[in-house]
Amino acid sequence: MSILVVGMICYDVVNTCERLPYEDEEMRCVGQREQQGGNAANSSYVLGLLNASCEFYGAIGKGPRTEFVLKRLDRVGVAHHHCVCYANKTIPNSNIMLSLATGSRTTVHYRDKGFPELTFNDFKQLDLSPYKWIHFETRGDESDLLKMVQRIIEYNLSQDRKITISLEFEKYRETVLEFMPLADVLLVGKLFASHLGYKTADEAVTQLRNRAKENALIFCAWGELGASASGPDGEVLHVDAYTPGPVIDTLGAGDTFNAAVIHSLSRGDTWKDAIKFACHVAGTKCCSPGYDQVKSFASH
Ligand code: ADP
Repeated sequence: MSILVVGMICYDVVNTCERLPYEDEEMRCVGQREQQGGNAANSSYVLGLLNASCEFYGAIGKGPRTEFVLKRLDRVGVAHHHCVCYANKTIPNSNIMLSLATGSRTTVHYRDKGFPELTFNDFKQLDLSPYKWIHFETRGDESDLLKMVQRIIEYNLSQDRKITISLEFEKYRETVLEFMPLADVLLVGKLFASHLGYKTADEAVTQLRNRAKENALIFCAWGELGASASGPDGEVLHVDAYTPGPVIDTLGAGDTFNAAVIHSLSRGDTWKDAIKFACHVAGTKCCSPGYDQVKSFASH
């Protein structure tokens, strides 16, 4: 049984700079790497590094950039054979500047206006029986996403072994609030929580319980302040950020945190162990470039 992660994949060029350039300045960066981007693709990559059985599912294009990012998923054992391929499209891309001076991550994203979102028609072709967990980013065409989530809820009604549904709430849009009661596990980002007026992760997970379904698990990551989670009975646990060294790369910290929560819960850990594990894995990632250090937490 595997974990299906549904959402976006893109091609990222990450420039590590001493500081951000001024407008019109020409500056050399101190390092450059190419990697997969997109929250779902990043979380899939981390799940692969953790040795979880994982499949990425999203819309892809054709061409060298697509091949490059799919090869990266191959390298960590993440399947992607159900992806919907648009032969005449190039996948979205991001140019990112990581500032060593402040740790900020400045991103310019390009997505061809005609690049399609995954549709419900695509999703309904999938046989759901191989999956124990399905994770979605809440983004894009929410009406199709709603149908996808509802399909799993209906499927679960006839199953003894239910598929766990987790939803990520990162960028705030009013329309995504209606998804909150549908998830078994809510993964809420700081930006999203701040938009709702919450000042801390504790406050977010406490207040969001009113919007979530009964017994849902709620996690909220809050950058260098760590994260909080709320268990099925409303008990809240805060865990400080883990920093085993200087923080050098926070790009994808949230995606890493989410993947670690999913991996931990899906192997049967308690929600308290899951948040501790996720802060440990995400903090370790922040203290080394890219994601590969996550491998030291792989299940064997
Ligand atoms: P995002 O990448 O979505 O902005 P966050 O910045 O909230 O995500 O980070 C997610 C998790 O990564 C945090 O809960 C924390 O565990 C870890 N993390 C993020 N920034 C740092 C940091 N500066 N030091 C240590 N851990 C961090």
